[in-house]
Amino acid sequence: MARTVHIIGAGLAGLAAALKLSARGEDVVVHEATAFAGGRCRSYHDAAVGMVIDNGNHLLLSGNHAALDFLRYIGASDRLIGPRTAEFPFTDLASGESWTLRFNNGRLPLWIFDPGRRVPGTRVLDYLMLARLIRPPPGRTVGEVIGCDGPLYWRLVEPLLLAALNIDPPHGSAKLAAAVIRETLAAGGRACRSLIARDGLSATLIEPALARLQQRGAQVRLEHQLRAIRFGTRRVDALDFGGDTIVLAADDAVILAVPPYAASALIRGLEVPTEFRAIVNAHFRIAPPAGQPPILGVINGTVEWIFAFPGRLAVTISAGDRLVDTPREELAKTIWAEVASVTGLPADLPPWQIVRERRATFAATPAQDLKRPGAETAWRNLVLAGDWTKTGLPATIEGAIRSGNRAGELVAHRQKQKNHE
Ligand SMILES: Cc1cc2nc3c(=O)[nH]c(=O)nc-3n(C[C@H](O)[C@H](O)[C@H](O)COP(=O)(O)OP(=O)(O)OC[C@H]3O[C@@H](n4cnc5c(N)ncnc54)[C@H](O)[C@@H]3O)c2cc1C
Repeated sequence: MARTVHIIGAGLAGLAAALKLSARGEDVVVHEATAFAGGRCRSYHDAAVGMVIDNGNHLLLSGNHAALDFLRYIGASDRLIGPRTAEFPFTDLASGESWTLRFNNGRLPLWIFDPGRRVPGTRVLDYLMLARLIRPPPGRTVGEVIGCDGPLYWRLVEPLLLAALNIDPPHGSAKLAAAVIRETLAAGGRACRSLIARDGLSATLIEPALARLQQRGAQVRLEHQLRAIRFGTRRVDALDFGGDTIVLAADDAVILAVPPYAASALIRGLEVPTEFRAIVNAHFRIAPPAGQPPILGVINGTVEWIFAFPGRLAVTISAGDRLVDTPREELAKTIWAEVASVTGLPADLPPWQIVRERRATFAATPAQDLKRPGAETAWRNLVLAGDWTKTGLPATIEGAIRSGNRAGELVAHRQKQKNHE
């Protein structure tokens, strides 16, 4: 009889693992606690703005190769939009200046030598800061490796690392910052094109993945929360879903692709990251003005990035813990005042929604990074996945998908080994 691989959690890590294994002809069942797939990366219909919005704006870069392969495999590459070349428009609310960073395609960073392409107010030598961050000593914070000040820091390094690590950069892990810089800026403009899901995260990443899984015969069971794992000596014996229990056959395997707090509740003694950072998003139902770029960086404001979608402007604020208790209306007004001033739109507050994800990502500090477990566990039929496992990247779509791919490969590889024994 063919074996079954049970995947717990239908976030991107779980879906990536399911796609890998079902592509190999394995029987796959995905069990998801909530009524929807996508986890922290999903869309929903919001009554306040009367339209489908994402739980949070998500930015991909053209160097996110696992994410782009995932999209290709589910037939959804064309649902991401972005400029043809790597360019990032910015505006500074304090000085009123606007500029566009324009990276050249190749690895040699010629843009640094061109005052029209680099960050205004910077000199070529300032960019040595980036070189220092590429191979930092282990266990250090960004603040211990570079001086977190000066125009290059405030206008490029801070916005980049704040968005990628979701932590105030001086406290962030220099190792994780280095991974981001190696895979983006240091890889050249070809790896730095910004890509956003114009029609929403679910329409781009989740629904096509579910359709592909269905085509492959994989089952996705929603509202089927794993309550407990029954452990044998070196293997998992059964999965307890409350109302029903699945007893695992000899070759069955389990991929646990849930957030860290859920994983540690299911596996006693598992060390996982325990600190988190919030992300705050504000959505405004209003047509973006003509010429509004798909993504605009804002310096010296509460707002950090403004995303333009059809009929909607949406704002992202990373490491937004300081804002999670601010009254929602007050926050909407503060954010809209900045958006109106940047875009020239009327000051009247349009229909709005604030979405605060309190545990958006684990806190990307060196100490929390050390707590991330690898994919393998002490039980030979149990493998871990998720953006918080030891991917070498901060908590991102790319990290989640790589972890799911790796978990799928491990499970497949172990079965191959067993067949040879
Ligand atoms: C607001 C916001 C903005 C972000 N912006 C970006 C961005 O711009 N770029 C980027 O690359 N990344 C971004 N991220 C990070 C990205 O969304 C995550 O890294 C990624 O979605 C994590 O996927 P995952 O599968 O590891 O975890 P999750 O998405 O958390 O999936 C875990 C799943 O497991 C389910 N589950 C939990 N417990 C159980 C159980 N007991 N039984 C069954 N199912 C269970 C959950 O319901 C969930 O569906 C952002 C995240 C947020 C919240």
